[in-house]
Amino acid sequence: MASESSEFDVIVIGGGPVGENAAQYAIQGSDRTAVIVEHELLGGECSYWACMPSKALLRPSEVLDTARNMPGVKELVGDQPLDADAVLARRESYTHGLDDSSQITWAESAGIAVIRGHGRITGVKTVEVDGRTLTARHAVVLATGTTASVPNTPGLRDAQPWISRDATNIHETPGHIAIIGGGVVASEAATWLLSLGAKVTMIVRGSSLLAGSEPFAGELVADALQQRGATIMLDASVESVSRENPAATGIGRIHGGPVTLVVDGSEVHGGEITADEVLVAAGRTPASADLGLSSLGLEDGHSIDVDDHLSVPGHDWLYAVGDVNGRAPLTHMGKYQGRVAGDVIAARAEGKTLDHKRFRATADHGQIPQVVFTPLEVASVGLTEAKAREAGIDVEIVAQDIAVAGSSLQQDDYSGRAQLVIDGATDTIVGATFVGPGVAELVHAATIAVVGKVKLDDLWHAVPSYPTVSEIWLRLLEARRTADH
Ligand SMILES: Cc1cc2nc3c(=O)[nH]c(=O)nc-3n(C[C@H](O)[C@H](O)[C@H](O)COP(=O)(O)OP(=O)(O)OC[C@H]3O[C@@H](n4cnc5c(N)ncnc54)[C@H](O)[C@@H]3O)c2cc1C
Repeated sequence: MASESSEFDVIVIGGGPVGENAAQYAIQGSDRTAVIVEHELLGGECSYWACMPSKALLRPSEVLDTARNMPGVKELVGDQPLDADAVLARRESYTHGLDDSSQITWAESAGIAVIRGHGRITGVKTVEVDGRTLTARHAVVLATGTTASVPNTPGLRDAQPWISRDATNIHETPGHIAIIGGGVVASEAATWLLSLGAKVTMIVRGSSLLAGSEPFAGELVADALQQRGATIMLDASVESVSRENPAATGIGRIHGGPVTLVVDGSEVHGGEITADEVLVAAGRTPASADLGLSSLGLEDGHSIDVDDHLSVPGHDWLYAVGDVNGRAPLTHMGKYQGRVAGDVIAARAEGKTLDHKRFRATADHGQIPQVVFTPLEVASVGLTEAKAREAGIDVEIVAQDIAVAGSSLQQDDYSGRAQLVIDGATDTIVGATFVGPGVAELVHAATIAVVGKVKLDDLWHAVPSYPTVSEIWLRLLEARRTADH
């Protein structure tokens, strides 16, 4: 809904999933007005360049993996690779060919105006969009997300490397791709690039993949990627990059001739790797450099600090939600913040108090669930063992291989591992990690246990259905009983 108005109750800068949620919650069930200012596509990174296309690319390889481990099906599938054209076409159906008209229709149906352009704060409750001034009666919400960081390694930027947008919007599969990074984006991209037939070399600065996860998760994922043909260089860093004829061929197309990386810490080919493309998956930068924050005395270009109401301290009309505040850079957590901020804006507009639990984003503090969609999924919530020890918790660890009737039925040669981090003082779970095929759906039960602070004695009575992979819960609780509880 385009809008001629210049005054709104709520102005949201950034129309990703989080900004959309904040706008919706701030006005729903009221006669308040909201506008989203968006300078690219309504729906944001998640819809077109991140979560949706990446998961659309990953699911076919998961199905193929299961089929290859399933008598009665594996004989049909044999060594057949994926039909890459069909996989890319399915991805395209999720990103709508980078057309956001369905999101605009949603905004219209929710009564939210959309203005296309770059939003920048110029003063209290004032936003400028390409020369047009908008004012907010109640709130301005910053939901501008992040952009991919490309390190200043000599030659890297000139080589026009792929960033995550190219990998998710892939149109040409490189014969050999070097991936700089070993985090979630790098590991997931390695998974789908392998499944599309690329040779993959990962160059990882640290000593493991998925550095923020439990160490066993990174090790199991590295094994699974290596079994599928990936080369993983740990404790290695790229010193310089050179490329023949770099070219701006477009997103997801190969950006020029062969690219050579000089890698410190690598003995492969005397420390040099030549590939058809290089993907940089080395972190994200908050999109706050050109938001006019300095007009309020705030720092440009950093994550925006907020309190648990998602308000910027000292500016109770200003909110920052989603990736740009750096608290929990995941779509589901950002949308949760968007719901909290929207509710807070509505309550403040209606003169209500903020006493209710709904008005604080408490889950951001140590209760964050995440799923990494690698060949073995990593589903986790809360604190890792290391973080729990750092926090001074009386840590108890219970860990088991996932080997229950449900997992063996899921596929032949099922292998996986689960671990609970228990606070011995309160007899509750503060963290859980599951690694294995199809474990994504296990994490919500753990999230409920962590957020609800359910006692382990009570969990004994939460009986998992037979024969499901969830029976691993029973194995974990049994292991704890035998450990004298
Ligand atoms: C490859 C990849 C895969 C991912 N997969 C998952 C996943 O499976 N699950 C998950 O939970 N998370 C995933 N993430 C993270 C997820 O994408 C982000 O957490 C999520 O997109 C954050 O939403 P947001 O609304 O805060 O920001 P964004 O989605 O980044 O949206 C911000 C919007 O603001 C706009 N904008 C920025 N500045 C301005 C301005 N000044 N004026 C106007 N508009 C502006 C941008 O154009 C953009 O549309 C993934 C990330 C990547 C890179």
